[in-house]
Amino acid sequence: MSAVEIPPGAVLVVNAGSSSLKYQLVDPETGQVYADGLAERIGEPTGARIRHEALGRSRDLEVPLPDHQAAIEQVAELLHSDGIALSEIGLAAVGHRVVHGGRRFHAPTVIDDQIRSEIERLSPLAPLHNPPNLVGIEAVSALLPDVPAVAIFDTAFFHDLPEEASTYALDAATAEKYAIRRYGFHGTSHQYVAEHAARFLGRPASEVNQIVLHLGNGASISAVRGGTPIDTSMGMTPLEGLVMGTRTGDIDPGIAFQLARVGNMSIDEIDELYNKQSGLKGLCGDNDFRAVLERVDAGDPAATLAYRVYLHRLRHYIGAYMIELGRVDAIVFTAGVGENAAAVRADSLADLQMYGIEIDPVRNAERSDEARRISTDAGEVAVLVVPTNEELAIARQSAAVVAGTGT
Ligand code: ADP
Repeated sequence: MSAVEIPPGAVLVVNAGSSSLKYQLVDPETGQVYADGLAERIGEPTGARIRHEALGRSRDLEVPLPDHQAAIEQVAELLHSDGIALSEIGLAAVGHRVVHGGRRFHAPTVIDDQIRSEIERLSPLAPLHNPPNLVGIEAVSALLPDVPAVAIFDTAFFHDLPEEASTYALDAATAEKYAIRRYGFHGTSHQYVAEHAARFLGRPASEVNQIVLHLGNGASISAVRGGTPIDTSMGMTPLEGLVMGTRTGDIDPGIAFQLARVGNMSIDEIDELYNKQSGLKGLCGDNDFRAVLERVDAGDPAATLAYRVYLHRLRHYIGAYMIELGRVDAIVFTAGVGENAAAVRADSLADLQMYGIEIDPVRNAERSDEARRISTDAGEVAVLVVPTNEELAIARQSAAVVAGTGT
């Protein structure tokens, strides 16, 4: 018996990166979080640590973590010392975030050996993401062999994008051979937020046309017509689209040729440059938006240019998606920047009154963890802030598929 009473049916949500493992133990019905944490620097010679929070107590410990298996075992031990025995609390499922579902996966999927090898076959599509996701799946399965493991794909929501939105104007045979198309990412968040926004407006999702802006360290935007996405800014990889904390977003593909030919940079160096050294960080040295905004307020030229480039790209996509949707009922901000940075919300939608978009400065300045409207009552387009909760979405979808009520 577990010393702490946790009702059966909780879900352990796992998001495994190359050297990290994020986890949350959550009740999919109520959303109550029993424990969560992050193991970092897994497999690194020094500095491995786990930040763990359970039942109101938080702990930070430095502990060697040679691999993901060791990390999940440590997490289980920490939980055990909190009085939570993972194998005895009647977990409904372990929900794994899997970045790339390729052309094959468009729904939450219970993982068996065959599914595991299919995810493995997709690894060339997401060489930096899917292999660590698989390592996480294996590590948790070894620890909890009797609990159903479910894969929730970050691409799933965008699986059926219209062909004209998912197709690159690349030689068709080459694209087919290498499964090159626009897949879209952050799908779990876009779907969760779009559904929540429709509920907030008191209308069926099938009647609401909306633009969802997921602005975190990674950032993406989607156009959702009646609950179905018709476009999104991330593509074959999570690099395309908006300017992000450290990623370029859209960039002339020819720049890579220039860097290789003239700069003698290798593919891996260009990959690192585009993914880790660019975006806000590349432009001004900071990728934390709070720091960027403080510097903008202080008149710092590099931060100001970075902010202007960020907004320019954002407005470019908002405009494009307004035209694609034709009628827009709601524009919805979410994730770290979208939920917290009132300036970004105000500046990205400034001077659009003629399109029915008008932010109320007082509503916009209010801080809250709840979904809320920040547009004026007169504005035809409802501008909302809806906090995302990818872990809860993963937990709910995992529990539903195991119960046989999922999609
Ligand atoms: P991810 O999950 O992609 O790592 P998050 O959704 O947690 O990212 O968002 C992280 C970003 O949100 C950071 O750039 C951070 O600076 C920004 N952020 C968090 N709080 C605030 C705030 N109060 N004002 C401005 N930006 C904020």
